[in-house]
Parts: sequence; C-alpha cells; structure tokens
Amino acid sequence: MPKGIYKRKPHSKETKQKIKLARLKRKEKLGYINSPETREKISNNLKQLYKEGNLILPTMLGKHHSNKTKRKMKDIRQGKSYEEIFGVEKGKRLKERFTNEKNPAWKGDKAKKFSYHAWLSRHKLKSDVCEFCGKTKDNFGHIKLVLANINNHQYTRNPKHYKWGHYSCHINYDNLNRKREQR
Ligand SMILES: [Zn+2]
Repeated sequence: MPKGIYKRKPHSKETKQKIKLARLKRKEKLGYINSPETREKISNNLKQLYKEGNLILPTMLGKHHSNKTKRKMKDIRQGKSYEEIFGVEKGKRLKERFTNEKNPAWKGDKAKKFSYHAWLSRHKLKSDVCEFCGKTKDNFGHIKLVLANINNHQYTRNPKHYKWGHYSCHINYDNLNRKREQR
C-alpha cells in the first residue's frame, strides 16, 4: 500500500478486525466474497484501464529495487519529460494524467502542510544562505536550511510565501510575529 496522505482517517484495529470477520462470514455463507458478476465487472474495468494505458501492472508488488537500480532509474529519468522516457503516445497520456491537478495524489486546497512543503521544497530555488539572517551558519553553528512559511501559516503554493532558513531563525521569526500580533 502506498504511504501518503489519505482523505479519510485510517481504520482502527477494531474496525479492520470487524471488516475481516464480516468478509469471512460472507465467504462461509456464500462461498465467495465478490459475486461472479462483481468479479466480472472488476476484471472488465481492469482490462479497460490496461487497454487505455492507465494501469501499471504490479510487477514490483512486494519487491524492492536495489539502490543501484534506483540510482540508474533516476539517472535515466532525471530532467526528462514523460515523452522522452515513455515515447510520444504513452508519454502524452501519462503527462495528462499526472500533471498537477490531475495527479491522484493532489488534494487541491485541502492539501496539508506536509504536501505543500514537499512541493515547495522541490520547486523553490534553494538558497545558499539563510534568508532570515543572511548567514551560512546560525548562532549555534548549524548550516542546514529548512523551508519556512512566512505567510502567517497560511499554506499556499506560492514560493514567495516561503523562505529557506535555519531552524532557529525560523523559530525566532515565528516568535517575533506572535508578539507583534499580541500587541
Ligand atoms: Zn539564519
């Protein structure tokens, strides 16, 4: 199962157990979980999706690529368009399907802080120095820069609403802001 942000809350352990039991009971009583008609429907749907090129067959299910293979795939794919990787026809379809709003992982305005941050960290040009203090190292000698929201914690996809900065500088900024608001 892919990890990520789901629209619904994950089922609790008890709920999962209940679902499992209900399905087992059904199987005992009827001899199957999905009726032959339902199975036929599912099968046809999958065939249709496969024909349209929208189904990725799970050949890697339960397996992992080695790090070497992952690096190789990254080298091959990096900086290339879908068309260059998959050929014009399939590339076009995949691009349509996975670009921005059409990406099934895209939650539009409801996207959580996490997915905004992930998106921005890919799209906002990373700075060499902290954009809060202008220095490479903060007072504690930390170099690492994190993405910080400077838009009153209103999360948007506008790079102008974010800064690359030291964690400590970000916290300082937030604290100053809070004091300013309280005044
Ligand atoms: Zn700083």
